[in-house]
Amino acid sequence: MTEKIIPLADIRYAARVPHIPLQLQTPTGLLADTLARPLHDLRISVTDRCNFRCSYCMPSEVFNKDYAFLPQTSLLSFEEITRLTKIFVAHGVEKIRLTGGEPLLRKHLEVLIEMLAKLQTAQGKPLDITLTTNASLLAKKAQSLKDAGLQRVTVSLDGLDDAVFRRMNDVDFPVADVLKGIEVATKVGLAPIKVNMVVKRGTNDAEILPMARHFRNSGVVLRFIEYMDVGATNGWRMDEVLPSAQVIQRLQSEFPLEAIDPNYTGETAERWRYTDGGGEIGVISSVTKAFCGDCNRARLSTEGKLFLCLFANQGHDLRALLRGTQYSDAQISGAVAHIWQGRSDRYSELRAALPPDASVPGSDGARRVEMSYIGG
Ligand code: SAM
Ligand code: SF4
Ligand code: SF4
Repeated sequence: MTEKIIPLADIRYAARVPHIPLQLQTPTGLLADTLARPLHDLRISVTDRCNFRCSYCMPSEVFNKDYAFLPQTSLLSFEEITRLTKIFVAHGVEKIRLTGGEPLLRKHLEVLIEMLAKLQTAQGKPLDITLTTNASLLAKKAQSLKDAGLQRVTVSLDGLDDAVFRRMNDVDFPVADVLKGIEVATKVGLAPIKVNMVVKRGTNDAEILPMARHFRNSGVVLRFIEYMDVGATNGWRMDEVLPSAQVIQRLQSEFPLEAIDPNYTGETAERWRYTDGGGEIGVISSVTKAFCGDCNRARLSTEGKLFLCLFANQGHDLRALLRGTQYSDAQISGAVAHIWQGRSDRYSELRAALPPDASVPGSDGARRVEMSYIGG
């Protein structure tokens, strides 16, 4: 008898096979979880690989040559991603963010974008399709991404000082090439571009003001993200988090700012604008000001596991419904509805209510997912 070998990468994170309800209902586009939160955003990770080794995300000591990335056969195909997306859209998703790992490493990504761009929201409008990238390949790919139907990009950049940035990406990648990517993306119309800077106290907080000076008056929206305790490998410590309130204070020392209203309910960034008309910035205070109450995002991993929270240690194996037994779209749709309707995740809110060194009940045990696996 031959033994069935399950590749290690496939059992990396716990995931249960979803329950298919016996009574299937037609999607209304108005799904709500146990805390009355709608399903609005779907973040799709298209690869778990990356050409950077940012210390807060894929530390090189862990993600080294011995690390078992997912085999090609584990990844959802573009057809599988599109089929699932269509089901999510019928349940109310209007915004898709492609992420990873580094999404531009996924071969022929433009083909996926073309397929997704043909889908329409429950109200018959085009989907809002965006992508988060480290921009290493953006200058080369911006035009073809735009032509395929991508609307905007968010670029991650943690500083303008070349030595600081090269140290943070840990692969010696220069700032100039990221700036070139932003320039080309702007030129082809992937705008307004957002730039995300993860702030680590003592590592790159001296870059806050230079970044603000650089992107003021450029049309780029710079956003400062608190360093999060996501995953299990980055050695996160509270004393390395610089609270957004202090980021704003430092910016105010040079540029007067005023708070502005969110664009929509559930927006992760708090928006501010320079009072002299120099544009807008944002702060994402995932640690010091949890925004679980409005969290309307679901995350689909590279291998088709659905996670309902960035800090989840358990996913729902949608790929199991796509491969093997042939379930219908209506059955998979019923399973997705059942999962979302049972959602009660609010990790950051719970953690904020506890002492800094206490762990959130239910969040230990199985290993928490890595950011590079489900995307930001
Ligand atoms: N590779 C792409 C990039 O860097 O833009 C997309 C994937 S990356 C996981 C998505 C976002 O997550 C990036 O903006 C990154 O800075 C952010 N991120 C990763 N680890 C983080 C952490 N520990 N705390 C806060 N943000 C983090
Ligand atoms: Fe790669 Fe993005 Fe993670 Fe940096 S943040 S290691 S670029 S996936
Ligand atoms: Fe959403 Fe989870 Fe983050 Fe709360 S902790 S905002 S539920 S992803």
